[in-house]
Amino acid sequence: HAKHLGGNRICIYSSDLNDYAQDTIALETNLRLAIDRNELEVYYQPQVSLISSKVSGVEALVRWNHPHFGLTSPQVFIPLAEERGLIQAIGHFVLDSALQQLTLWDKDGMVIPKVAINVSALELKPGYVDAIQAALTKYQIRPSRLELEITESVLVSDGVETMQILEHLRGLGITIAVDDFGVGYSSLGQLRRLPIDALKVDKSFIDNIHNDAEDEAIVNAIVTMARALGLRTIAEGAETDQQLSSIEKLECDCVQGYVLGKPMSSTELSKWMNFNPVVN
Ligand code: C2E
Ligand code: MG
Ligand code: MG
Ligand code: MG
Repeated sequence: HAKHLGGNRICIYSSDLNDYAQDTIALETNLRLAIDRNELEVYYQPQVSLISSKVSGVEALVRWNHPHFGLTSPQVFIPLAEERGLIQAIGHFVLDSALQQLTLWDKDGMVIPKVAINVSALELKPGYVDAIQAALTKYQIRPSRLELEITESVLVSDGVETMQILEHLRGLGITIAVDDFGVGYSSLGQLRRLPIDALKVDKSFIDNIHNDAEDEAIVNAIVTMARALGLRTIAEGAETDQQLSSIEKLECDCVQGYVLGKPMSSTELSKWMNFNPVVN
């Protein structure tokens, strides 16, 4: 690295790399404190059924609002949290917040059938089932109102232990959705054996679904296969009305994307539920 470039005292750091390292250290130190300092917040993005036009659920997406760094993307801090052993604490915070929020919406008479949370591979360890059960009991939420989103790579590469945990969770009535489906490497044969209930069709297939015959064909094939296997489909990341009509035409069960609603704070979601003509 820069240190070894010469014997003189002038270090020729790549400033970007240096910034990155500094930021990463600062971010990590701060992430450790973020939960206690109440800097994490859970946002919710509606998932809408194309059969009933009603909200079928919401996906919980964590946000980190740091007083100095501002709003940091989970795409940045979730990998860091995984690396530094902080993901379990964050996962627990999201689970607890989301289930509590569900009870609050219930009290307000809002119909949110289920909440989906993203689960990292590192969380799927012995003890996870107990933690989930404890949270469900704490808030008196039926297990069928909780969906866990797990990426394809986790399902394919992780061993017997992970499968047993997922099977145990499904046995309780919790549902499992494969996140970002289609960009991983699961074979069709594997898919049949996995303990899953739904496929979330990756946004990359949705982006050009309205004007690319091949993307349309892929989504069509996914939906057909899912139906044959008894799995629900959720199209991810729909931004335009054109994409939405293609998704409807191909008979995906549900859709989630900016065209219907961005991830929102719980308060914003309540307002969205009251004012959105699509879903009432
Ligand atoms: P994901 O689970 O695939 O979530 C979907 C991402 O797509 C979200 O990004 C969402 O805001 C974004 N999105 C939804 N609709 C649209 C759209 O129409 N257009 C565009 N451009 N984007 C859309 P977000 O919230 O930044 O989260 C990124 C990723 O971070 C998530 O991808 C998930 O993998 C991870 N993540 C978020 N929250 C958690 C969490 O609580 N735990 C774990 N383990 N991972 C999380
Ligand atoms: Mg997800
Ligand atoms: Mg996804
Ligand atoms: Mg993703």
